Amino acid sequence: MPDSYAPVLSVDLGAMLANYNLLCRRALPAICGAVVKADAYGLGAAMIAPHLKRAGCAHFFVATVDEGLALRRVLLPGVKIYLLDGLPPGAENDIAAAELIPILNTLAEIERWRSFQRGPGAKAAALRQAGLHFDTGLNRLGLDRRATLDLIGDPHLLDGCNIGLVMSHLACADDPEHPMNRTQLQAFREIAANLRLPPRLDGGGRPLLSLAASSGIFLPSDYHFDLARPGVALYGVSPVLGAENPLAPVLRLQAKILQLRDVDLDMTVGYGASHQVRGPTCLATIGVGYADGIFRSLGNRGAVFVAGQRAPIVGRISMDLMTIDVGHMPRQAVQPGTLVDLIGPAAPRGQSIDDLATASGTIGYEILTNLGPRFQRRYSGG
Ligand SMILES: *Cc1c(COP(=O)(O)O)cnc(C)c1O
Repeated sequence: MPDSYAPVLSVDLGAMLANYNLLCRRALPAICGAVVKADAYGLGAAMIAPHLKRAGCAHFFVATVDEGLALRRVLLPGVKIYLLDGLPPGAENDIAAAELIPILNTLAEIERWRSFQRGPGAKAAALRQAGLHFDTGLNRLGLDRRATLDLIGDPHLLDGCNIGLVMSHLACADDPEHPMNRTQLQAFREIAANLRLPPRLDGGGRPLLSLAASSGIFLPSDYHFDLARPGVALYGVSPVLGAENPLAPVLRLQAKILQLRDVDLDMTVGYGASHQVRGPTCLATIGVGYADGIFRSLGNRGAVFVAGQRAPIVGRISMDLMTIDVGHMPRQAVQPGTLVDLIGPAAPRGQSIDDLATASGTIGYEILTNLGPRFQRRYSGG
């Protein structure tokens, strides 16, 4: 029996595919992969990835080996699954057996992959692909400047490796005017021009070059190279700071009114008594809280929408509950059991994920990846 008090997360797979198609058009002549790490940013990779595959997506990115193994169980071999976090020691056999593609981030990982390739089953090893990640300024993951120069200076360091992807990642792509974009583009071009790779033993041609994630797709086409790696834009989050969002909203987030109460002057609301009631009004208590990924920073700041009308959040957010002021609404619009909107529908009758993120003091990525297991997940439009 589904818990009818549970909050609801509705995912519109049709809108997600429309976003994928829009990203594919924007990325041309590059092809478009999909980043489905962190369980497709919390929306459910097992539901999302097969739809993308049917739409023609053949390159999927996850962060960890476990994510890759789980994704391989729902996607047949032939579809490429890349591991952004690299090659953990001891994972080589699992990675090879599931035909995952580790993206090598250090010389030590390259050396470890090479010695695995020389081990038992070396013939089949020729077919195992790996990727290379060059850091061009994010200073996070990937071969640093010194390792990059070492690799360019001694191509034999890659002997026996079948490199199918060469990538880097932009630090400031959501700001098209940022000078870092050009600097990183130039660095990536130089690497691509100077890197000498061993011949592909699987008959593949030169490796795919990849620089752009969601925001990079909205930079000029010289940032697109061969393969784009959008994640968050698939799920409708705005890719460019301060610009109109061209993507379709993919999710709607709702929770139920569990209880209504009339309150009067002299009363306070919630833990810490942080909200002072200013006159007779009506409060609704909703069954969703910070354990579900509704940020505590929204207390006394954000709002939800009830039947298309804004209702301010009053008092602190608690673990499983939050309170809103509905004194300005007709009573028949607010009843126990009424679903209120935290994300969606479109303004002015609702707010976007970016609106909720801004009110929470964070970004859409963090909202998505914090949505907890108590949401009933409903998929439509598939
Ligand atoms: C997460 C990630 C992506 C996807 O980024 P979005 O901004 O969600 O499109 C692409 N590449 C790398 C290396 C990543 O870590």
